[in-house]
Amino acid sequence: MKAMYITKQGPPEVLTYGELPEPELKPDEVLVRVRACALNHLDVYTRAGVRGTKRELTKPLVLGCDIAGEVARVGSLVRYLQPGVRVLVNPGTSCGQCPACLTGRDNFCRFYETIGSTRDGGYAEYASVPATNVHPLPDWLSFEEAAAIPLCYLTAWHMLVRRAAIRPGETVLVQAAGSGVGSAAIQIAKLFGSRIITTAGTDWKLEKAKELGADAGINYNRENVADRVKELTQGEGVDLVFDSVGETVWEGSVASLKPGGRFINCGVTGGYKASLHMGNMFTRQLTFMGSRMGTRRDLTEVMEAVAQKKLRGVVGRVFDLQKAAEAHTTMEGRDFFGKLVLRV
Ligand code: ZN
Repeated sequence: MKAMYITKQGPPEVLTYGELPEPELKPDEVLVRVRACALNHLDVYTRAGVRGTKRELTKPLVLGCDIAGEVARVGSLVRYLQPGVRVLVNPGTSCGQCPACLTGRDNFCRFYETIGSTRDGGYAEYASVPATNVHPLPDWLSFEEAAAIPLCYLTAWHMLVRRAAIRPGETVLVQAAGSGVGSAAIQIAKLFGSRIITTAGTDWKLEKAKELGADAGINYNRENVADRVKELTQGEGVDLVFDSVGETVWEGSVASLKPGGRFINCGVTGGYKASLHMGNMFTRQLTFMGSRMGTRRDLTEVMEAVAQKKLRGVVGRVFDLQKAAEAHTTMEGRDFFGKLVLRV
């Protein structure tokens, strides 16, 4: 099969286009003919060997965890799915047998892995994945839009719905509207009846965010985020801060919270160190939460909302698979809104 793979970690040029053997299919897996695969920061980190991903590769590695395509073949134990079904793939795999998995908290499984990082992913014509990771698609949903959904919506749904228990009427500050997870969070917060304030570094991204449901936008290159949040909330602050950036926005995030407010973070693209004034935390009764990926139930609920056309994948740009290096460079440049998708 045609594939884009790496044999060593490094700059975008280590991405190599060529022939690899078709993946092996285990009895409980399905072979997906990949039609689209979206990029995530994880792809860039794994390619570069940074942020805890550094390792010697003993065989070619195919990146990419956000996969959409058609079922090509099914393993002997697979009953629910047949060849030809259009699907997207949950990027997180777990053992299915441990107490965490059996209580519906599969993102706490100690065997949790992400497709395209520690096992082969979707930058190829075929990918084999556990049958329990596959969700059928509505007929009208394009593969490119479907590929824009899994990781970001899984993560954002878990954060907002499961962890932060978002309620109607709450005000939410979504940091980084242009990121995949930010654009997902705006739509999910809207679906749950929240008022949304969001941030971006350019006005065109803020306009896009408003089309997705944001009520107000703050250009962080021109305005102080916490000051503007206070103005927009009559001095109160927000109930919830949704963040995937970390260090560079930390002070603004904390200063934007109202007493009793919650902060939730799923990523540190802007750095991972922060200092916390604990006196401020206890007197204002603030809650700080970390969140990673999401559960099978989360993505199942996301797909129900997608089927009802209440959520949509946000495709920033589409590249042919052969242009994966260019897509990685674009990802590092940040001048896009939503997801970068490879067409396979
Ligand atoms: Zn498990």
